[in-house]
Amino acid sequence: MGNDRSAELAAVHSEIMGCTKCELHQSRKNAVPGEGRSDVKIMFVGEGPGQNEDEQGRPFVGAAGKLLTELLELIGLRRSDVFITNIVICLLMIRRPPRKPEIEACNPYLESQIRIINPRIICPLGTPAITTLMGQQFSASKDHGKLTSKGAIAILPMYHPAAALYDASLKAVLASDFQILKKLLEEARASDKALLDSKPAETHETLEKWV
Ligand code: URA
Repeated sequence: MGNDRSAELAAVHSEIMGCTKCELHQSRKNAVPGEGRSDVKIMFVGEGPGQNEDEQGRPFVGAAGKLLTELLELIGLRRSDVFITNIVICLLMIRRPPRKPEIEACNPYLESQIRIINPRIICPLGTPAITTLMGQQFSASKDHGKLTSKGAIAILPMYHPAAALYDASLKAVLASDFQILKKLLEEARASDKALLDSKPAETHETLEKWV
């Protein structure tokens, strides 16, 4: 089952690597398909690759990524405990939010990742990711830290870490929203031992740090 899911995820990722569905593919160095195992319970969804991500073909490896990694560590998680992806897989050469047709072209990839991984919790980072998952009436400023859901999946919207690089006061807001995530994980762990049992031995240590 796990192997089937990893194979399915790998197939989506190789499709992403060859994607030419919108014009953004013309200026990218690397498509950025997202990173993580297929059996994790938590997904983070950002906006799209920046320069560093485009160079390396990996999500959140620049300054915003460093902050995301620190926030994860703050609540006892490693990057390898979560799946990190974006609503758009190609670099936007001019810094602007992705446009509707670009988001729509990429959306089947995100939907496939969500279907295959079937996470318990998704944290969309920033308004474009939040509206892509939840609809136009949502925003980071209004809905960050407020738990909602999409079908059986819990959704915890958050500010994008890049926003905290421009407005330092948002770092504390993000840190506090990560504490909400920590609490949710503790509750999930307490109410569902299967969460631990379904994990390979190597990750037990990290999961134990959740409580
Ligand atoms: N910002 C994003 O939204 N995604 C990344 O992968 C990196 C920075």
